[in-house]
Amino acid sequence: MEITSNAFREKASQALQDADLQDALQNLKRGFQEKRAKTLAHLPEYEALREEAVAVKDHVLRHLDFYLNHFEEKVRANGGHVHWCETAADARATILRLCQQAGAKTVVKGKSMIAEEIAINDHLAAHGIAPVETDLGEYIIQLRKEPPSHIIAPAIHLKRDQIAGTFRRQHQDLPDDRALDTPRRLVDEARHILRERFLGADAALTGANFLIAETGSAVLVSNEGNIDLSRGLTGLHIVLASLEKVVPSLNDAFLFLRLLSRAATGQEAATYTSFFTGPSRPGEVDGPGAFHVVLLDNGRSKLLGGEFAAILRCIRCGACLNHCPVYGVTGGHAYGAVYTGPMGAVLTPLLEGLDRAGPLPEASTFCGRCEEVCPMGIPLVGLLRKLRVRRRAEGRVSPLARAGLGVWAFLARRPFLYHVAARALVAVLFLFRRRGRVPAAPFAGGWGRSLPLASARTFQAEWRRRQGEDA
Ligand code: SF4
Repeated sequence: MEITSNAFREKASQALQDADLQDALQNLKRGFQEKRAKTLAHLPEYEALREEAVAVKDHVLRHLDFYLNHFEEKVRANGGHVHWCETAADARATILRLCQQAGAKTVVKGKSMIAEEIAINDHLAAHGIAPVETDLGEYIIQLRKEPPSHIIAPAIHLKRDQIAGTFRRQHQDLPDDRALDTPRRLVDEARHILRERFLGADAALTGANFLIAETGSAVLVSNEGNIDLSRGLTGLHIVLASLEKVVPSLNDAFLFLRLLSRAATGQEAATYTSFFTGPSRPGEVDGPGAFHVVLLDNGRSKLLGGEFAAILRCIRCGACLNHCPVYGVTGGHAYGAVYTGPMGAVLTPLLEGLDRAGPLPEASTFCGRCEEVCPMGIPLVGLLRKLRVRRRAEGRVSPLARAGLGVWAFLARRPFLYHVAARALVAVLFLFRRRGRVPAAPFAGGWGRSLPLASARTFQAEWRRRQGEDA
């Protein structure tokens, strides 16, 4: 997808005015936050699992070459093939070649953020191969020609009636008067359409949640069964995965799986957890005759051993998005990139460059909820802070923001002046008040939100008062 992250501020402002989006984003709390909290309440060993997973992942990242080579050996021994791709262009060319060699005209796809990262759909379509998304959320946004807005719930920005409208516009062979007023009816219609696409497909392209070095397997979780159908009904299975997805052993894969589903959707386990190990064996009635793994680097190996290496621990559970107060009101499209929310605000500038995604590290309140809920213990706030420092060092911060920070730093080192300035600011905001709120704060007009009126007493004044009461 085209990166438009430099327009984050404008897009965030538009998102805040979008009543349908604000309604749809309420599902983050009900759909993810509450379920995650509930399921983790029944997992007393969560912290121990998290520590173990971090240790395993850091070990893998230190020995990535060893585990990837081991994985390749096993895939080959199982009758499959591995293709090492340094760039997105390499991966696109490899996948296209594999599809063309197989004579594929239709490719059914499982949800894959890496496929979004390399924009494979446009590339296949430009060469006469039809990509068909089979994950329900991905299918909906493919019909709407939109990018995903969330790494595990690509259509979370949409309400039911918007999806019904899309189906009516796109599924024109179906009766106009059919009812599409419940989730069940929407799912049934998508299933009806997709079933035909599965049966007519020539190849399957999926991502992978993990690659197991010990067995040469790709592990995928889903809740819809579309991935198994894709693989089972076509002659060619291509797995597209970034290189940090490798884990040493089957046991390690189960460790990560225990964390992934709980952190992502609050499930103890996803409905389907599939292990794909090579092509189908002689005598098996379904499964592909050819199995290929396309391993993508695309800038990740440059992060190894550096100050941002911890972001490579990410298992794409989406928990940091679900708990982020910024993502919770802007949604994913404002980020203008494949990866959104706190993990995207770190990863996108690292992969694309601060010149293309400079504003994203600013899209955080630094409240710390993201790293608190991250099952891989990624210090997201610290990484975002480092990116802000780098951005400032590269001269990418506006003169006004630099001046503002300079004034703040000057005052912060002089407590007396700081207190005087804080009182003066409260007085100024008071002048702008309307019904107990500040509708247009000075220097903050672009955000389009009113602010609660600051307390008439500063924190220090309140602190002194309470100390006096206690004395
Ligand atoms: S950064 Fe952590 S919480 Fe966010 S998607 Fe990755 S693993 Fe999940």
